[in-house]
Parts: sequence; C-alpha cells; structure tokens
Amino acid sequence: MNEPQGASVVIVGGGVTGLSAGWWLAREGVDVLVIDKGMVGWEASGRNGGGCSHHFSPLFAEEQRLWPMMDELLGYPTEFRPHRIRLAGSAEQMELYGRAVRNAARQGFASEELDAMQIRELVPLAGDTMVGGYLYRFGGHANPHRTLQGYAWAMQDHGGRVMQHCSVSGFDVAGGRVKAVLTDRGPIACEHVVIAAGPSTGRLSAMLGQDVPMVAARAEMIVTEALPLMPYGGVDGNGLYGRQTLRGNLAYGGGPHEWLDTPAEGAPAKPSTPLMGPIGRRLAELLPKAAHARIIRSWAGVIENTPDGRPVIDRLSTVANATVATLSSIGFGLSPASGRAIRDLVVDGACSFADISTFRLERFADLEPNWRELQGWRAKAAEESEAA
Ligand SMILES: Cc1cc2nc3c(=O)[nH]c(=O)nc-3n(C[C@H](O)[C@H](O)[C@H](O)COP(=O)(O)OP(=O)(O)OC[C@H]3O[C@@H](n4cnc5c(N)ncnc54)[C@H](O)[C@@H]3O)c2cc1C
Repeated sequence: MNEPQGASVVIVGGGVTGLSAGWWLAREGVDVLVIDKGMVGWEASGRNGGGCSHHFSPLFAEEQRLWPMMDELLGYPTEFRPHRIRLAGSAEQMELYGRAVRNAARQGFASEELDAMQIRELVPLAGDTMVGGYLYRFGGHANPHRTLQGYAWAMQDHGGRVMQHCSVSGFDVAGGRVKAVLTDRGPIACEHVVIAAGPSTGRLSAMLGQDVPMVAARAEMIVTEALPLMPYGGVDGNGLYGRQTLRGNLAYGGGPHEWLDTPAEGAPAKPSTPLMGPIGRRLAELLPKAAHARIIRSWAGVIENTPDGRPVIDRLSTVANATVATLSSIGFGLSPASGRAIRDLVVDGACSFADISTFRLERFADLEPNWRELQGWRAKAAEESEAA
C-alpha cells in the first residue's frame, strides 16, 4: 500500500502490541490500519526472549488462557510451548523463584519443586551446579518472529491493513478529537488512534498533551549453535531469560539494562561484546553441558520501561479518541491479552475481562520530576558529560 488512506482505527506501531490490537479489532470487522516507521516486528517485538509467564500481571489469567489457543485463533504457528523450568544457582535465587510459585498458586496455577535427579532428567544440559529448581505448570514460550507474522497475517486476513516505512510525526487535533495522524506520506484520517510505539510512545503521547513517563534501555541476546532438544525448551534462571528454539539453539538474554537518553529513532540497536561475555558465562553456569557450544548470533533490542515497571493501557484524558499502550518490558508474553484489552478500550471504553486500573496513567500524578535520577536510570553518556 503506497498512498495513505483513512481508517476507522489507526494504530501507530507495528510491534506485538499494535498488531495484536489490530488483529482483535479486525476480526470483528473494524477497519484498522497499522503504521510502522520501519518493518513490523523489527524492534523489541522481534528481538525478545519469547517468554509468556507474567504471573504478577492482572492480564496473567488471560495470557495463560489464550496462548495455548493462539495457533488456532490466528491460523498461523507461533511455536508456543507450555510450562517453564527455572533453575536456581543460589539459595537467594531459589527464594526469589519460590515467590513466583506462591503467587501463581494463589491464582490457581501449580508448580513442583525439582530435586537433583529430576533436574538431570528434565534438563539434560544442566550439570550439578544448580542448588535446585521449579517446574512451573504455567507460562511458556513462543517464537517472536513467528508470532509477529501470525498477528500481521491474521489481521490482514480479516481486512486489516499494514503500512510499513511510514513515520508518524504528529496529529491533527480539532474540537478535542484527533482528526488525522500526520505522517511522512501525508495525513491519514481516523476516528480513533492507538499509540503503541514502544519506546517512542511517550514522545508521541506528549504531542497530544499527555505525559507518559518512560525510559528506553538497551538489552542483548545471544544464540548458540543447535544442541539436542531438551524435554522442556523453556529453561531459564541464574539471572537469564530465554528458551531453546525448536531447532535446538539456545537463545538467551539477561543482565543490566543500558539506559538510553532518547528512544532510538534511527539506526537499530547493535550488540556490544562487553555484554555478550557475561550472558555467555551465566548460560554456561546454568547449562554446563552446553558450555562448549559456540555463539553464532547476537543482537540488541530497545526496551520500553515505565517508572513502576507496569504497563500503561489507558484512554488519554487530553483528547476524546486516543488510546495509549506501552508494556514496560513484558509486552511479548502479554500480547494476546494486551491486544484484547486495547480492543476493549477502543470499542467499549473499558476492559471487559480484567481489572486493569493499575495500568492507568493517573497513577503517575504524584511522580517526582526527577524520578529517573532517583531510580538510577540515567544514561551513561549523560552522566559522563555532567561529570566532565
Ligand atoms: C532483548 C529483549 C528481551 C525481551 N524478552 C522478553 C520476554 O522474554 N518476554 C516478554 O514478554 N517481553 C520481553 N521483552 C520485551 C518485549 O519485547 C516488549 O515489551 C514488546 O516487544 C513491546 O512491544 P511493542 O509493540 O509495545 O513495542 P515495539 O516492539 O517497540 O514496537 C513499537 C513499534 O512502533 C514503531 N514506531 C515507533 N515510533 C514510530 C513512529 N513515529 N511512527 C511509526 N511507527 C513508529 C517502531 O518502529 C516499532 O516497530 C524483551 C525485549 C528485549 C529487547
């Protein structure tokens, strides 16, 4: 599609959040257009660990209900695999992972503590270095690229449209409503706009008079050559997240965020070898029988973060017809449910299946102006230039 046309709902951002919302809307006949400045899924949504186990979220029950059905609902494979094993390298990690067990149990999801023999059986690449672990009978993992494709194709099957390589630069507002989304290909008229632009969500929302406090950070992943498939691909712990792909590669990330000053609008984030080393070391500790495997790929992605780490999914108060959605670093796993919640806000004005009041923007009303400094989320470059 080369020439801009209007749409009933225009979604800014073709990551998992925008595409899932677009799919939910299109499957019930809403005329929807997803616009992305690059290619869909090129940012965090195509670069993440694929984890789907967010037991602390109000969207958890819906996340868990939907994932096992997603291949059928979309009509395309996501490579979703249920359940997760978490291995602890210390008593402190065991205690931390035990909290997830208790929290999920309160919501009706079972887990089992694993002894050394069970770990050897269920995780053949593990050695004897871990002090213990859990098998979570919830959560799981999926292939981010397959899932992205699935959302985009399924949405188009229902008549939704995607416009790639089209950058949104502002909004035409009149009478308290967004009349059109302004792009480098011209204005695109709409009845409702959804801003789901990952780390750029704050900048775009500010153009509609709404402050969405958030900071971008860079994170990295490594991929090893293929190894024999383990009974469960979703094995993590030792400060790492990740999965074994269906081909056998170990794809893992984790470690400190590298805080960025502004959302990366230009060149994609590049991996740096200083981060790759510690990820590889911790992976070798987690799965010592994979320590010989060569790292064949690595990449970085830019993650969106709100001050309290919780998503924002809300209607803006500054205009009558805009919804904002940013998932604060857990957006892949939650995407089946977040898209449905966005659909509900756009069409009905409220979420029908979960209490998402903790995702409202009003929670930031008393946020300290220097919240970023208080949390130590300053970009290295900014700190260095101030010190100089
Ligand atoms: C290394 C890494 C590991 C992760 N691991 C996990 C995990 O295991 N599980 C999990 O649930 N989450 C994980 N995450 C987080 C998850 O990937 C994100 O929360 C999620 O992808 C956010 O999706 P999104 O669609 O909201 O944003 P994005 O994927 O950032 O998509 C936003 C889109 O908006 C577009 N856009 C921005 N500005 C404009 C503009 N002006 N005009 C038009 N388009 C614009 C961008 O091009 C982009 O495609 C991880 C992230 C990273 C980087």
